[in-house]
Amino acid sequence: MEGPVTLASDLASVKSFMKWSLKKPELLHQVLDFATEATISYANSMVLAGADVISVADPVASPDLLSPDSFKSELQSRLQKFSSNVDSVTVLHICGNVGPILNYMADCGFEGLSVEEKIGSIKKAKEVLGNRARLVGNISSPFTLLPGPIEKIKEESKKALEEGVDVLAPGCGIAPMTPLSHIKAMVEARNEYYA
Ligand SMILES: [Zn+2]
Repeated sequence: MEGPVTLASDLASVKSFMKWSLKKPELLHQVLDFATEATISYANSMVLAGADVISVADPVASPDLLSPDSFKSELQSRLQKFSSNVDSVTVLHICGNVGPILNYMADCGFEGLSVEEKIGSIKKAKEVLGNRARLVGNISSPFTLLPGPIEKIKEESKKALEEGVDVLAPGCGIAPMTPLSHIKAMVEARNEYYA
């Protein structure tokens, strides 16, 4: 599901949302609080309907769009509120190179943090997280999973496991034309790695 920050920017329009983040903090807070409440009730409804894990994509919270300082001062408390009010295991995905905000993401209360290949070293990311959250990712959706070949997907998957990724997964949303065999190759790589 879409995260509170992205829902807020969708409701306000990205243009207004970005403008408010610089010039109208009271409007920014208002729409963020509304979106946080809305995403909490939506997530809990899915839990009641049987969802096992609530996985949140919040691309607008990326340092590509909002500064790490804004993440800490405006977004972190809303994401904390989300995770503590949703009655489920939760995973937070934020796109882009989240290196500058990873430490803040780790304090948001999500069990898993899903990151792209742009994070660079998995080992370093794991050091930042410590015991606060599990690392999910980070096989490149556009550059590895879409084009393949299968050998490359397996090689990168095993390397990610070797470096300590906790949950092997695509780095971001799976591209629509990705062959099913490429997704299966990730699972095969995991099986071969632990064989
Ligand atoms: Zn992404």
